[in-house]
Parts: sequence; C-alpha cells; structure tokens
Amino acid sequence: MTNEAILYFDREHLWHPYTSTEQPLPVYEIIRAEGVYLELSNGKRLIDGMSSWWAAIHGYNNPRLNKAANVQLKSMSHVMFGGITHRPAVELGKLILSLVPLGLEKIFYCDSGSVSVEVALKMAIQYWYSKKKYKKQNFVTIRSGYHGDTWNAMSVCDPVTGMHSIFGNTLPQRFFIPSPSCRYVDIWEKDCIEPLTECFEQNADTLAALILEPIVQGAGGMRFYHPEFLVKARELCDRFGVLLIVDEIATGFGRTGKMFACEHAGITPDIMCIGKALTGGYLTMAATLATDNIATALSQGVPGVFMHGPTFMANPLACAIAKASIEELLSYDWKSKIKSIETQLWNELAPIAKFPQVADVRVLGAIGVVEMKESVDMATIQKQFVELGVWVRPFGKLVYVMPPYIITSEQLSILTNALLCVVKKQK
Ligand SMILES: *Cc1c(COP(=O)(O)O)cnc(C)c1O
Repeated sequence: MTNEAILYFDREHLWHPYTSTEQPLPVYEIIRAEGVYLELSNGKRLIDGMSSWWAAIHGYNNPRLNKAANVQLKSMSHVMFGGITHRPAVELGKLILSLVPLGLEKIFYCDSGSVSVEVALKMAIQYWYSKKKYKKQNFVTIRSGYHGDTWNAMSVCDPVTGMHSIFGNTLPQRFFIPSPSCRYVDIWEKDCIEPLTECFEQNADTLAALILEPIVQGAGGMRFYHPEFLVKARELCDRFGVLLIVDEIATGFGRTGKMFACEHAGITPDIMCIGKALTGGYLTMAATLATDNIATALSQGVPGVFMHGPTFMANPLACAIAKASIEELLSYDWKSKIKSIETQLWNELAPIAKFPQVADVRVLGAIGVVEMKESVDMATIQKQFVELGVWVRPFGKLVYVMPPYIITSEQLSILTNALLCVVKKQK
C-alpha cells in the first residue's frame, strides 16, 4: 500500500478520537518511533511533546521494555485470570504496592483507564451496599475534571467539556462543585474548600464517593490546584463518611514530580486508579487499587464478591512490560530529571506569558501549559508544529506539552521554542 492509499483508507473508513468522519482533521502517518522521536512516512522526525497522551514516559522503542515484551511473548501473551495466576501479575503487583500511598493493599487489574474508573465507582457503590447504606449511590466531583469516555466515567467528567448535554437524561446526574479556586502556586485560602463542605453537609447521605484527579486536572482543563484542597477533601470524606477515589491515570509514575500526585498532599485515598504510563505506553492496561477496608467490605454480605472481571484482566504481556517500565523509571534519578524539565519549562515558557494572545502559562513537573485567550484552530496549529519538527496536539484554548522523561535539554529547547513561535502566530 502506498502512503497515499493508507491516508485515503484512513480518511474514508477510520474514526479518530473526537473527530468527524465527514470533515476529518488531517492525520499524519507515523512509521516508527524511537527515543523521543516520531518518524513520519516522508522521513521527517518529530520531537514528541505529548508522550502519546501521558503514556510513553520513556519515549519509544525502549530496549528494556522491548526485551520484557519479547521474553514474555515466548512463554505466553495471554491467559485468563479466572482461576489462574502468573508471575508477571504478581511481580508487577508487588512493585506497584511498594510505590503507591501507604494503605492501598488490593489491586484490580483492568484493560484501560476508563474501565478502571468504572471499577472504582462500582467498588464504592458496592462498599456502601455491603454496609447496608443503600442510599449512598451517587458521586460528587469537581468541575474541569476528566475521567474517561465510558458511561459512568463520562458522568463525572466536566459537564461542559464532557458534552453532557448531548446525552440528556440517559446520563446519571452527579453532583458538581467548582474546580478548586486555589491554584497550585497560590497561597491556600480556606474558602476554597467551602463548596465541598456544603455539598457534603447537604448530600452525604446519598454520596458513595468523591472522585477527582489529584492536583493536576488533565484533559478537562489542564489546571493545577492547591495540595491543601486534597488534604481537606480527605478530612471531609472521613468526617462525612464518603469514600475518596483519586484518578492518577494521567498523574501517576512521576509526571508531576512525585511518583503519585497524592504525595503532594500526603494522603491515601480509599480507591485509586492508575493507567496510561503504567506500561510505559506499550499496551493498554490499568488498575484500580483499594484499601483493605474496601476490599474486606466487598467480601462481606451479599454477594460477597466484587462484581467485575474483564476478559483481558492482568494480561501477562502487559504486566511484564509494566514491570519493566517501572524498573526503568526506578533505574535512574527520575526525580532530578523531572525537576530539571520543570525548571527548564518555566524558564523557556515564561516569555510566552507576556504575549497578548496568552491568558496564562503554568508548569508542574514535566507538564507545561500555555492557555490562550481564544480557542486555537487545531488543523493549522498542528501543521505549524510539524513544520518546526515537533509533535504537539492542543485542544480548545490549551497548548501544552508533557514530553517523555528521556528528553534532553537541547530537545526540550526545540520543543519550547516551537511553542513560542507557534503561539506568537496565533491571533
Ligand atoms: C486518559 C484518562 C482516563 C481514561 O483512560 P483511557 O485509558 O483513555 O480509558 C481517565 N482519567 C484520566 C485522568 C485520564 O487522563
């Protein structure tokens, strides 16, 4: 097939994320990827600024991850998890528990981030069911959140960016409080927690859990909020008898400068979702972690088991690669590396804040965000980035980067410089 034929079939028959089939945005054919580079079919190499949506933290074609995949393929790539266990699931589990906030003891492996959120929500409801608190079936979340695209995950996404209006009454109605007004860099103001306190005062008897992304709200707005909000949210959850679910799918595995973003606040949630970077971007896999308290409750009463079990649960190939990915992360001083990416992002993106078309510039860990005053035109801006040799995919008013951690300071400068050039060109 020629490259033209590939693009033609794609345009005629393949859906892309959040895209029209009638007027699809242009797509670029990538033929291989190595280190921090994506290679286009015309031979041009792009510095990846997206880590394939938070996932490819070590870049591409990593020798350690490749080796783990090859070795595992030779024994088995998949086997059902009902009635069977295997070394990759156990060894990965051991490694995960050594890294997550203290108190999380039980692991439910699942296929994707959205599914891990569904699992978390189901766990919370089943927890209260087993406690005979049958009214506690709803959820509260903060606006500007994103938790995935499946039904219940979608119901706790921001109602505006999540387009709840399209789905009308078919979507479960959740409680929404404003996104925390105190930003990460601000001084903590106690008013910031008032909306949550009020919501709990009025609705705790019907609330199973509070679900939120810790510190960094990703796809719903790329906002960074104050760690004290999380501290206070944990306290309120305990006081009002509401479970706390944190969605670390985007933030996990070092992205914010901590292994998990919960560490900014020193809290342990009742339930935690991880995904995306779990396999270093190699395969789809996620997990929902829970405390013993949750797991014990689910095992008591009726039905006495947790009602979920995906076909590809604990896929051995994904587990083996995930273990290698975590070992790769732990094999070097990742904290210093993220810190130096953070410092460089601040230094090199700061000048952009003065542009008249820019509303805000913010950085946390290996995440750099330029918020524009107006929405950008994706097709045009994407082309401009590609011409400058970088891969950046903005959405709405947000032009942002979260590069693989292996990016060198020279490569990062090329990326930030491209951001500067492209942002300057926008109206
Ligand atoms: C991407 C993401 C999800 C959904 O994960 P999928 O693997 O795409 O289903 C959920 N929550 C957060 C915070 C995410 O960033």
